[in-house]
Amino acid sequence: MNKPLQSQFAFIIAGGGMAGLSLAYYLSKSQLGDLPILVIDQFPKNKNDKTWCFWSDQEEEFDKVAEKKWDSLWFHSQTNQSKLLNINPFQYRKINSVDWYKEVHSALANKPNIQFLEAKIQSFSYRGLDVNVSTDQGDFCASKKVFDSVSAFTCDFDNPKHIKQHFLGWTIESHFPIFKKESADLFDFRVAFGLECEFMYVLPTSSKKALFEYTFFSGNLREKTYYRDKLKAYLLAYYGFGEDDYDLLEEEYGVIPMRPMEGKPQNLHDKIIKIGTAGGFVKSTTGYSFLRTQHVLKELVVNLETKKHKAPILKDLRFKKWLDKVFLQVFIDQKIAGSKIFEALFFKNSPQKMLRFLEEKTSLREDLSLMLTVPTYPFLAAAIKLFMNGNKLP
Ligand SMILES: Cc1cc2nc3c(=O)[nH]c(=O)nc-3n(C[C@H](O)[C@H](O)[C@H](O)COP(=O)(O)OP(=O)(O)OC[C@H]3O[C@@H](n4cnc5c(N)ncnc54)[C@H](O)[C@@H]3O)c2cc1C
Repeated sequence: MNKPLQSQFAFIIAGGGMAGLSLAYYLSKSQLGDLPILVIDQFPKNKNDKTWCFWSDQEEEFDKVAEKKWDSLWFHSQTNQSKLLNINPFQYRKINSVDWYKEVHSALANKPNIQFLEAKIQSFSYRGLDVNVSTDQGDFCASKKVFDSVSAFTCDFDNPKHIKQHFLGWTIESHFPIFKKESADLFDFRVAFGLECEFMYVLPTSSKKALFEYTFFSGNLREKTYYRDKLKAYLLAYYGFGEDDYDLLEEEYGVIPMRPMEGKPQNLHDKIIKIGTAGGFVKSTTGYSFLRTQHVLKELVVNLETKKHKAPILKDLRFKKWLDKVFLQVFIDQKIAGSKIFEALFFKNSPQKMLRFLEEKTSLREDLSLMLTVPTYPFLAAAIKLFMNGNKLP
């Protein structure tokens, strides 16, 4: 990666991860695609640092790099009831970040106006009408916009009342064929014994290869050894695997903030626009953001092209946001095991309705009918607590 010869750009994309590269990709395909653009990241982004999964009932932009797609998903309850959910017309997809980075970088390689810089961003400041981005490799100016995916999202990792999705995953290759690759395990709550929402998530991509992810939706992070011990115990209990029965190919660890974005909604009048996790693109009750980021950024580029500057970056769906807060308050209060909430939702509603609900695509009537299927007392108590706190999470 060479240092750019110029210091003045139309757009600067701060952070060339999932959101930053997606934006560069959609800009490159738009009428704005010939303007000078700089993408800055501290790393070369050529490692498999993440797995992105999502569901959709239509073709999506990066389907061709998906390692695997599933038409059905298992749900295992805490009390050992198992249900195979046929999610047709949805498909659950898995993309390995290294394949995606390669795909996007190669799509951008023939655009000389899009330059890349490996540097650590230190600050943003206004210089007249431009925005200046200071890095350890020098200063760069954007005349139109800076898109910021490097700022931290407000979530205190040490505060147990700030819910996070925290997980550690292993991709393993077993020494003999054992996995049934036709279906993935979206939730396996058989591992949950307390009130915290914890589950195993299993994605078999071949008869010998699978990703196992020990996951929490909770406030208390654990030492990495804790998740690793849970993975070992699960592999032994459910597959009879001792450590000699498989090779550990990769490990991934993540902490994703599960909090709604607060403050004034952003629009294209802003000169510095936060995108990705920094911009609140993560759905706060699921931790998913890959697909949403694609849709939001595609629309953002169309709005930029057509100069619809008033359009909000994220749709302001107030009732959905309030519902998310109620769910998060229920996770904080722990008056009921997290597993029981998902069990009620997935056992009493069709998987298609649930997937649309989690994507914020259900109508108000559907939302209300779904809320009738959750345990009443903890949700009512959480809604009242939220109301008493001025609709704010702790
Ligand atoms: C391990 C993991 C697995 C996930 N799995 C899923 C999933 O299955 N499905 C889903 O929908 N979501 C998933 N997510 C959530 C979310 O989709 C990802 O976190 C996604 O990468 C967020 O995109 P982003 O651009 O905001 O952040 P990133 O992709 O992390 O990009 C931010 C970039 O900014 C760079 N950067 C940071 N600070 C600086 C600095 N000071 N200077 C220069 N560069 C900097 C980083 O190097 C990084 O490349 C996962 C998250 C993690 C951590």
